[in-house]
Amino acid sequence: MSDASLRLTVLGSATPYPSAENPCSGYLVSSGDTHVWVDAGSGTLGPLQRHVRLDRLDAIWISHLHADHSADLLTAYYGLLYADISLTAPIPLYAPPGTADRLAAFLTNTPARSPIESAFAVTELHDGHQADVGSLRLTSRAVAHGIPAFAVRVDAATGSLVYSGDTAPCPSLTELARGCDVLLCEAESAEAPSDEEQVHHTPEECGATAAASAAGRLIVTHVGRTLTPHQAVTRAATRFTGPVDYASPGATFSIPQATPTPSVTGSPASPRRVPARHSSA
Ligand SMILES: [Zn+2]
Repeated sequence: MSDASLRLTVLGSATPYPSAENPCSGYLVSSGDTHVWVDAGSGTLGPLQRHVRLDRLDAIWISHLHADHSADLLTAYYGLLYADISLTAPIPLYAPPGTADRLAAFLTNTPARSPIESAFAVTELHDGHQADVGSLRLTSRAVAHGIPAFAVRVDAATGSLVYSGDTAPCPSLTELARGCDVLLCEAESAEAPSDEEQVHHTPEECGATAAASAAGRLIVTHVGRTLTPHQAVTRAATRFTGPVDYASPGATFSIPQATPTPSVTGSPASPRRVPARHSSA
């Protein structure tokens, strides 16, 4: 019997390279029989299969093309096309612009371009992109990481999750996360840079983003190598009064329904309404 509640399973949360115990960034977001692989960082394809077969994924969503968030797409491609899997259709892949050609450039070994599209049905993300995947609605917003990068909100009938991807604090993330049940936010930086362009959160900034968006709960992830998970959680909690957890590899979080707000309309069985689209102009 499948669990109809919204669930977040941490496949890995290390950066910028996996540790012996922790792959890079990757998550499985599930509700009932709907399964979405959110970021495919190095080492996440293995633990993904503890929970779902590769060919049973309903979609893959990639925040940006840094290797610690996307490298396992390369091995997933081989698995989907050249092993014991018979795909009935390419797996929908929502990812930043240029993803198909970037994958093909790595995978092509002969004069003929490797058929990325045989494994993945690629849809390029843009700011405000929305997609319905099974019982889930995915809304993507462009965020501040120095390259094309996105955060995602997952709305289900029973709850909502927002994942920052990699980003500095930015209004689009705060808007996307407004009123969500769980904010999964990166905490890469021990200290904010003083003069260069900022592309990550400090733990305190994670807490501030969670507070500004009135998230119900904060889970810190992508904790940099100069921080411990305990430090990241403790420092984030100085700016956010709600529960704060660490995205431990292997952990599964059940995400409850948030207290309805006046702006929420529609039947309880429908995905909750999410912020309106925003153009990138
Ligand atoms: Zn990155």
